[in-house]
Amino acid sequence: MQITLNSVVQFHFVLKDADGSVLDSSTGKDAMVYLHGHDGLLPGLEKALEGKAAGDTFVVTLPPGEAFGERREDNEMRVPISQLRGAKKWEPGMQAVIQTQYGHQEVTILKLGHTMATVDINHPLAGKTLQFEVDVVDVREATSEELAHGHAHGPGGHHHH
Ligand code: ZN
Repeated sequence: MQITLNSVVQFHFVLKDADGSVLDSSTGKDAMVYLHGHDGLLPGLEKALEGKAAGDTFVVTLPPGEAFGERREDNEMRVPISQLRGAKKWEPGMQAVIQTQYGHQEVTILKLGHTMATVDINHPLAGKTLQFEVDVVDVREATSEELAHGHAHGPGGHHHH
């Protein structure tokens, strides 16, 4: 079957930047699984998957506007160091996760004081043109439970929450 609204899709991917450096990949790991048409993926990637079927492979290039957005200068914030998640000891340049009113956000540490850190809240991939090499592994219809939740529950019905 072809990928359409409410398909549950499994795919492997290799993510590269415009220079061809590999940024991320599902190779050797579980395939990505998502519910199509419910904003589970980057919009440009989801659009490229529309109509594809298991066994299809393709490459899609996403400009920043269809990926993680443009980088904004002065997109800085001061947060208590105690709220940084992801490591025990921090240094400038490291990436951390903070909890905001919009959920988890990846940030980059710019400066560290005694109790407060100055962080860049641009997404680490903001401003980058991204290239995804995609290998569609499986396409199936969503279960009623998945539709009620608005997300996929994994290949074996395992509940990821
Ligand atoms: Zn669920």
